[in-house]
Amino acid sequence: MATVTRPALSTRMPPREDLNLFHISQLQFDMAAELLKLDPGLRQVLRTPRRILEVSIPVHMDNRQTKVFAGFRVQHNVARGPAKGGIRYHPGVSLDEVKALAAWMTWKTATVNIPFGGSKGGVICDPKRMSKGELERMTRRFTYEILPIIGPEKDIPAPDVYTDAQTMAWVMDTYATTVGHSSPAVVTGKPIGLGGSEGRHEATSRGVLAMAEEACKLKRIPLRGATVAIQGFGSVGRVACRLFAEKRAKVVAISDSRGGAYNARGIDPLRAQRYKDRTGTVVGMPGTSRISNDDLLTLKCDILVPAALQNVITLANADQIKARIIVEGANGPTTPHADEVLHRKGVLVVPDVLANAGGVTVSYFEWVQNLQGYCWSEDEVNARLDGVMRRAFREVVVSAQKNHAHLRQGAYVLAIGRVAEATTSRGMFP
Ligand code: NAD
Repeated sequence: MATVTRPALSTRMPPREDLNLFHISQLQFDMAAELLKLDPGLRQVLRTPRRILEVSIPVHMDNRQTKVFAGFRVQHNVARGPAKGGIRYHPGVSLDEVKALAAWMTWKTATVNIPFGGSKGGVICDPKRMSKGELERMTRRFTYEILPIIGPEKDIPAPDVYTDAQTMAWVMDTYATTVGHSSPAVVTGKPIGLGGSEGRHEATSRGVLAMAEEACKLKRIPLRGATVAIQGFGSVGRVACRLFAEKRAKVVAISDSRGGAYNARGIDPLRAQRYKDRTGTVVGMPGTSRISNDDLLTLKCDILVPAALQNVITLANADQIKARIIVEGANGPTTPHADEVLHRKGVLVVPDVLANAGGVTVSYFEWVQNLQGYCWSEDEVNARLDGVMRRAFREVVVSAQKNHAHLRQGAYVLAIGRVAEATTSRGMFP
């Protein structure tokens, strides 16, 4: 496969780096809209969220006090299908963050060409300091508050940072109890016993691995023996760690919110998992040395997988990145300014809207199975996922080449073009 041509650096890049996530998502959009020569009116439609719901969530805490949490659900665009996006619980959640994450979902579903729009939800809370009962009560009340705008044909939540299959089971039950009938297709990423899909749990990481394989082919790096550093040891990072090890790549560093662990000879993923389950962190795992999250990002390695939070690769550290390939498991780990620096350095960045789209792709399969009453095997799900991801990678590379752009811009041009076409053919109401 041919290599991607390097573009001239964008003249539209603002002189100062702005870390506001929504501004970042709009800058990424504007740069691609420019390449597409998109009509100014259509630009306005596509760069702003369609609907924002902000809610107050009163919860009886275990200490008998009442606490009111703030929550958001943002639907960015529904031109190509129902809105789709996860729910995040984190103290750092903000409306601008949720708006950005919702926009990225629109471009992600369009990049892999599945018939969904984009949305996201978030609650400002500290889930690590909440009991299971408090989390359940908060989830149920949040679901009730956003109920008018969610549903299998409207907007379908899924897990994100610090939410999981159990959270989705509570969302589904609250929805079903309130509307008065069973409705498994209202959420994805739920437990398999409640209509969850085989393979969903591992899907994002399987997608990350497939994208790393494709990127390695492009850079002519054998994956077997390649060194890998993974930031974040949650749903995405820990499964990615195991899958890379299964391919005989060498995972030399892993981390979580407390710090990281490093071993030049490779870290055993199952031992790391057991240690993390026992101690709550990967820090201090026997046979590894301690490394900070910042140092992990600038380690000398072949593949870097940021799989924690956003804005970790910025102008402040982009020049020190030594990885040859970055596969974005997380949403928004790299700023536009950092993108340009990395591109100049020849680092191949597989952007979030492609790299971590495995999760939403199998969420789409889960939704299809729920609506049709089907139950696909794990092998079938994995094979379909692989097909979608690798086709999308090829299309993004072609789009990048055509536009003399890097892969993120290639993906955005492809995705925005699809959403623009759907918006134009639907016309404007009224
Ligand atoms: P998770 O809650 O399961 O795991 C998050 C991990 O990040 C944890 O290991 C946590 O300790 C670590 N972390 C938190 N703060 C950190 C910090 N400051 N520095 C380093 N590590 C930190 O979340 P997840 O579902 O694995 O999501 C991780 C990223 O992947 C997010 O950006 C999310 O939006 C994205 N993503 C997730 C999915 C999915 O299917 N779960 C799909 C697409 C994208």
